[in-house]
Amino acid sequence: MPAGRYAPSPSGDLHLGNLRTAVLAWLFARSTGRELVLRVDDLDRVRAGAAERQLADLRALGLDWDGPVLWQSSRVDAHRAAVRTLVEAGRTFECFCTRREIQEAPTAPHHPPGSYPGTCRDLTPAQREARRAERPAAVRLRSDVEDWTVHDLLRGDVTGPVDDFVLQRGDGVTAYNLTVVVDDAHQGVDQVVRGDDLLPSTPRQAYLATLLGLAVPQYAHVPLALNPAGARLAKRDGVVTRTELVERGIDVLTLIGSSLGFHGASVQEWLADFDPARLPHEPWIVHPPAAG
Ligand code: GLU
Repeated sequence: MPAGRYAPSPSGDLHLGNLRTAVLAWLFARSTGRELVLRVDDLDRVRAGAAERQLADLRALGLDWDGPVLWQSSRVDAHRAAVRTLVEAGRTFECFCTRREIQEAPTAPHHPPGSYPGTCRDLTPAQREARRAERPAAVRLRSDVEDWTVHDLLRGDVTGPVDDFVLQRGDGVTAYNLTVVVDDAHQGVDQVVRGDDLLPSTPRQAYLATLLGLAVPQYAHVPLALNPAGARLAKRDGVVTRTELVERGIDVLTLIGSSLGFHGASVQEWLADFDPARLPHEPWIVHPPAAG
């Protein structure tokens, strides 16, 4: 059964923007006869108890999902196996650069700022040997394209850079761009709905899926929630989590629904006339009540 998904990182409580994206992932999946699967991306940035609170918040909004929650940390062997497949196919190289070295290296003329400058791509075996003694290597993709085009249901065709991005960090932890591709495929995900801050990573992920022989999912990147200053909404902006809002007597579903132009008092009612074509294309500016 094809599926959509929601994949929060358990780094803290979900705020209004996260909750709104979850609602949209649910609506996209359910309105197209898909299952919705849930994955906790707990390889990094884990705060004790956060995942459980996130799931409780989703349920409180009336969202449901299919099958057990997948904890990404249970998939480490599969992530490593995918890296191995690429290493054995000659699609990778070892990289010894520090973040600082990358920032300070001149970027290749046609590469956007911040993309990997290629320092370790063509080390000789002797150079590699010498650098291995200094620090553990990260594994980077040896990309053979400069960019890649994906189709997004809300944004149309989007072309973005594909540099030699990291697959596995020097400390052995596999990178988000790899794990997301491997786990989405494992969970049968063929529809990815998420915040449009992840749109720039999407060409890399689609390219990687192609290299691994995995189907590229359908994408819909939805506008983020911003604070009044135009920055991505964050906890420090005030009262923004479900628990905090409920304590103030504010109904979270009403708030999210009105930001999307939905009428009706439940996600089930929204589902009945959900139409992606009518979704706002602009970010949602939130004016949260002050905390404390
Ligand atoms: N876990 C990631 C995050 O919360 C999102 C992964 C994704 O939707 O691709 O930022």
